Amino acid sequence: MNQTERDDLPTFRRDVRRFIGENLPEDIRCTVRENRLVSHEEVVRWQKILHKQGWVAPNWPVEWGGVDWNPMQRAVFDEECALGGCPPINPMGLSMLGPLLIAHGSEEQKARYLPNILSSDETWCQGYSEPGSGSDLASLQTRAVRDGDEYVVNGSKIWTSGAQSADNIFCLVRTDVEVKQQLGISLLLIDMKSPGITIRPIIGLNEMHFFNQVFFDDVRVPVENLVGKENAGWTLAKAILGSERLHLSRTGENRALLDDLVAIARQEESDGRKLIDEDWFKRKIGRAEVRLKALDYTKQRFLQMAAAGQTVGPEVSMLKLQGSELIQCFDELLLEAVGHYGLPYDAAWMLGSRAEEPIGAAYAGTISANRFRHKGYTIAGGSSEVQHGIIAKNVLGL
Ligand SMILES: Cc1cc2nc3c(=O)[nH]c(=O)nc-3n(C[C@H](O)[C@H](O)[C@H](O)COP(=O)(O)OP(=O)(O)OC[C@H]3O[C@@H](n4cnc5c(N)ncnc54)[C@H](O)[C@@H]3O)c2cc1C
Repeated sequence: MNQTERDDLPTFRRDVRRFIGENLPEDIRCTVRENRLVSHEEVVRWQKILHKQGWVAPNWPVEWGGVDWNPMQRAVFDEECALGGCPPINPMGLSMLGPLLIAHGSEEQKARYLPNILSSDETWCQGYSEPGSGSDLASLQTRAVRDGDEYVVNGSKIWTSGAQSADNIFCLVRTDVEVKQQLGISLLLIDMKSPGITIRPIIGLNEMHFFNQVFFDDVRVPVENLVGKENAGWTLAKAILGSERLHLSRTGENRALLDDLVAIARQEESDGRKLIDEDWFKRKIGRAEVRLKALDYTKQRFLQMAAAGQTVGPEVSMLKLQGSELIQCFDELLLEAVGHYGLPYDAAWMLGSRAEEPIGAAYAGTISANRFRHKGYTIAGGSSEVQHGIIAKNVLGL
């Protein structure tokens, strides 16, 4: 970044902050600030507002509707969004599929799908995991057999987040059973309204509906919905996983949790003293903040590499690993700060339909629910154990 760009950052920050202040709907800000679950409708509403401003896809090239920001501006934007109470964007279309289509999609696919991803008129879900194929994704069995100008798809996907509200699914399918597993996989774009698709909701122990199992029974998909070449889907799948892991560093969410923690520590007391004045607790906050800073700088390094056209390789696993584990660290500190008031599990408050006041401070009411929800973060997008394996083998060469 040159000196002029550095000098312009405070102005840029002021503009972003003003925009968020004037345009983020109050009800959405309130949901986010109270750490309740942001609905699909709220996310889409906010994405449409960002789209109108031209800011919804900072990671896309300008000619496809992205923004001409340098990595520092993107970092400032993320930070201001977190501080301003903006909901996280839905990464499926904007962070994962969109950039992949720009790089590898046909001209027809770009024209058909990219504008609707930008405008959030169509949303996407990810069809990778299957019963029996999670970490060992290359063993997936959902079969696509060519029949004239169509593929006929049979099988099922599981843990498909948001399938109940998505218009389309990007789906890994097996197109060759004779070759090494990785060499027989293709990536298909499938309309969720296609005849033969059934969605079975999976309601979590936390009473929430994120997951689904999606069944494909003789689903006919036009050949033009194949991304890249047939049987070359594994490389594309890994590219999407790379983008997902960059996104899953969750620096914005971590930053918001740090702010919550500091605010709560200013109110809660231990032996008559505010927690924020206790050295033992300040040290814990400090340690977590240092981890967050390191994560932020590492993410910026990767963004700068990507902006300079360099390939970001398996080392992106570090971000996913650290980001998801740091959130769980903040959850534990939040629980420690509010003590037993943080223990009740209140799904109704998370979903915004609560009739009664929480027994403690309002901020304690969602701590347990989020703590359990965030347990999934060290599994989604590849478990921590798998990330350790990737770093050991592919980054450190052990
Ligand atoms: C919140 C959430 C959202 C998700 N959303 C989606 C989605 O939208 N679309 C989608 O396709 N999938 C989604 N998933 C599924 C997710 O990708 C898988 O759960 C994940 O890849 C792990 O696979 P698995 O559940 O089959 O566990 P398994 O692979 O069976 O793993 C079980 C255990 O064994 C360990 N293990 C497995 N292999 C190794 C290894 N090589 N070395 C060391 N330990 C290992 C794992 O760490 C884990 O502890 C989501 C999951 C979660 C939690």
